[in-house]
Amino acid sequence: MSIETQVSEYYDKLLQRNAGEPEFHQAVAEVLDSLKIVLEKDPHYADYSLIQRLCEPERQLIFRVPWVDDEGQVQVNRGFRVQFNSALGPYKGGLRFHPSVNLGIVKFLGFEQIFKNSLTGLPIGGGKGGSDFDPKGKSDAEIMRFCQSFMTELYRHIGEYRDVPAGDIGVGGREIGFLFGQYRRLANQHESGVLTGKGLTWGGSLVRTEATGYGAVYFTKEMMAARGASLEGAKVIVSGSGNVAIYAIEKAQQMGATVIAFSDSSGWVHTPNGVDVEKLKDIKEVRRERVSAYADEVEGASYHTDGSIWDLPCDVALPCATQNELNGEHAATLADNGCKFVAEGANMPSTAEAIEVYRERGIHFGPGKAANAGGVATSALEMQQNASRDSWSFEYTDDRLQKIMSGIFKNVAKTAKEYGHEGDYVIGANIAGFKKVADAMLAQGVI
Ligand code: GLU
Repeated sequence: MSIETQVSEYYDKLLQRNAGEPEFHQAVAEVLDSLKIVLEKDPHYADYSLIQRLCEPERQLIFRVPWVDDEGQVQVNRGFRVQFNSALGPYKGGLRFHPSVNLGIVKFLGFEQIFKNSLTGLPIGGGKGGSDFDPKGKSDAEIMRFCQSFMTELYRHIGEYRDVPAGDIGVGGREIGFLFGQYRRLANQHESGVLTGKGLTWGGSLVRTEATGYGAVYFTKEMMAARGASLEGAKVIVSGSGNVAIYAIEKAQQMGATVIAFSDSSGWVHTPNGVDVEKLKDIKEVRRERVSAYADEVEGASYHTDGSIWDLPCDVALPCATQNELNGEHAATLADNGCKFVAEGANMPSTAEAIEVYRERGIHFGPGKAANAGGVATSALEMQQNASRDSWSFEYTDDRLQKIMSGIFKNVAKTAKEYGHEGDYVIGANIAGFKKVADAMLAQGVI
């Protein structure tokens, strides 16, 4: 049987066994497409049903999360943790609290996380979790009661050597605090390494807050340097305004770029003169308000709910909001307007059609698995500090992050070239991420 037929048979079976999970299908389809290239060259990677095992989570947990709101009403949400692959280390990946969360979303994120974590070069497996709970508009007390109930089930499934959750959309420092408190109480031990993204006085790492956004910009810098370009004087669009976007904006501007727009789920803000990052942090991190407040308070900024942020001419686009936010039409508009570089701060923000457009139109593209790996890499550095009961300086940790991001870029670029697709970082990231996990799985037997 040809590799093509073999792989399309795996995929058809996966569609049947995982019906109604389009994001998971999308993430797997992209990886399998790259793996055909590996299997032609190294057919032993199909031995022992390795590919089928890779696409099947080791364990999937779904649980009820009941909690009492401020009116005394009982609310019921659904909690998830998908422990996808632990060949390289304990399951590692964030928790997402957002009404769109369902099993398919958690599986797509967990699947991506396997390859991303492998690319960091650090000993972490892949997992992801979350809930359909919507933190928007909830009081601190409601968030706390929800987190305590969520952890009351999750605590028996996690641990520093088993599974180490962190944040993602809707889960930041406040939520990690409540989750850690409840874990500590139930487990009756102060096990710092069980969660990452902790506060700095109780086991957190410097740079973890900034790491995903900074890392995406460090990756972009490498990708631009490989083409003789730089962020100095570049016009950059950053979608989103959460943790990833804020620190991508900060780092891009520190490197001499002008960030001309950012957004939230209601609209986008045009900032032709650049972004006042301290103002944005105050609105989003302290006041927890919408981005329209920024346009009300900053001269020269305007708020829009029509059209798309991707309609603006730019040199570099950094999608940092959420999955499938940038489609084929948006990608074509970016190309028409002269955009040359796209790097993903979010997980799978570009649709499959958008990626095709990047290829056809010569846009250099850093996929999320590689470009946004700085967050989880710094989580692994937090785990190292916890294991050695130490804490490192900002400069040292940031230097480690920069080296990790430049190592990822080099590995991805080298792998793409080795497999005959020079400059295709999607193929490079999928293959390089895959090979390390696959070698470990083959060495460890049929598990
Ligand atoms: N949620 C982040 C990601 O998508 C970080 C995960 C972590 O730090 O474990 O990679």
